[in-house]
Amino acid sequence: FRQALLLSEKMKVVSEIAASVSHEIRNPLTTTMGFLKLLSKTTDPQKQQYYVDIATEEIKRAQHIITNYLTFAKREDEAPVRLQAAEELGYVTAVMEPYAQMNQVELRSKLEPCWVEGSRHDFRQCFINLVKNAIEAVPQTGFVEIRCLMQRGAVVISIEDNGVGMDPEQIKHIGTPYYSSKMAQEGTGLGMLIVLNMVDLMKGRLDICSTPGKGTKFTITLPACEPQPEIRQTG
Ligand code: ADP
Ligand code: MG
Repeated sequence: FRQALLLSEKMKVVSEIAASVSHEIRNPLTTTMGFLKLLSKTTDPQKQQYYVDIATEEIKRAQHIITNYLTFAKREDEAPVRLQAAEELGYVTAVMEPYAQMNQVELRSKLEPCWVEGSRHDFRQCFINLVKNAIEAVPQTGFVEIRCLMQRGAVVISIEDNGVGMDPEQIKHIGTPYYSSKMAQEGTGLGMLIVLNMVDLMKGRLDICSTPGKGTKFTITLPACEPQPEIRQTG
């Protein structure tokens, strides 16, 4: 009896890992597919190169996810690096652009140069999840706006949409594993869990401001870091 219980607990862990791996991996694979489709439709060599570059980056991201989960490598092993937030968010915008177009959503960005410290993979994954949710929240035509700026020594990043919004009860459920309002679109309710995890790892905070029927604004505040390594004086 005891053994049966343990086995079922183990199975639960395995199925949770499987669900989050497939959730995270679906993104880069869908993106790669989208950019390969675009590639087949253009003869402009510059555009071809751009599409190949993004498809390659996204395949690398999928590889990274597999390595990270399936070898059970400790996440701390990945040394944090200095990230130019505007550049990374520019990447996120480029990756999500075809998905936005498919959903008739205008993707806008206002990005000021600012620096944060963390894992490039986690940072991209976090904002891809937020932008994806924002696009999915817009029912007909609308916009999603990504901003980043420096404010009182911190890096403030916001993702705003004019979509369906959330009531206080829904906001409370954000980040609860498997909580999803997307029955038809096969939501997994894991995207926000990944977001909260990254914000936590980067010692940041997440604020949600939402009005049902009007839209939602997610604001992530992260500690800023120096653009260049500091020259430290000894003694
Ligand atoms: P999923 O997208 O698979 O449903 P997530 O963890 O990414 O799972 O999101 C959980 C839930 O949070 C969504 O199902 C949705 O109800 C809500 N949500 C997240 N972002 C937004 C947003 N921008 N506007 C409205 N609701 C949102
Ligand atoms: Mg989601």
